[in-house]
Amino acid sequence: ADEISVDALQAWLRAFAGAVAENRDQLTKLDQAIGDGDHGTNMDRGMSAVVAALDDAPPADAAALFKQVGTTLVSKVGGASGPLYGTFFLRLAGAGGAGPWDAETFARALRAGLDGVVARGKAEAGDKTMLDALIPACDALDAALAAGQPLGEALTAAADAARDGRDATVPMLARKGRASYLGERSIGHQDPGATSTSLLVETAAAELG
Ligand code: ADP
Ligand code: MG
Ligand code: MG
Repeated sequence: ADEISVDALQAWLRAFAGAVAENRDQLTKLDQAIGDGDHGTNMDRGMSAVVAALDDAPPADAAALFKQVGTTLVSKVGGASGPLYGTFFLRLAGAGGAGPWDAETFARALRAGLDGVVARGKAEAGDKTMLDALIPACDALDAALAAGQPLGEALTAAADAARDGRDATVPMLARKGRASYLGERSIGHQDPGATSTSLLVETAAAELG
């Protein structure tokens, strides 16, 4: 299968950092409605530090790359999203290995990242969290690859599923994280973490396809 170069993986992370910066105010606004209003600044601070670390010392292989990303996010971002996104990328590193990565490696690594978020945060589908974008994205990616679609098309399907999953968080009642403190009042708002995760999958489709 076609290789995904370390350069392409790095370009994905830089594109995600750019998308987070561009959408920082929206992510913050969403978190103001059902949280403490810091998701945009949290993610932007973390991903800016990731880009600075990449500029400083470009990792030699995929495992080193994602390990650096995960470690940076855990150390720079507090709250829920730092450890959750940090765990996600550390699991990517562990499951995908040094490389070279192909489409199958990427899908397997993403699934391991998802499992890491579940293990860390104990949330499930429908709890109104980042998982509501990540789970459908992984499922769509696996299904598309199993059907023989090339990586680009499979990632486009994953990005569509992530966006739909993000939108589907609006009517959900939050059962995990700060939004859960609101109970019924969390209904009617889009989840900030599902929104940033949708950006993560959309940039993967744009950069790795
Ligand atoms: P905090 O809530 O600590 O201020 P952020 O605002 O950066 O952290 O991130 C909030 C997002 O984290 C939520 O929108 C949700 O998607 C995600 N989240 C919170 N708790 C969990 C959990 N237990 N499992 C998965 N995702 C979670
Ligand atoms: Mg917050
Ligand atoms: Mg916070």
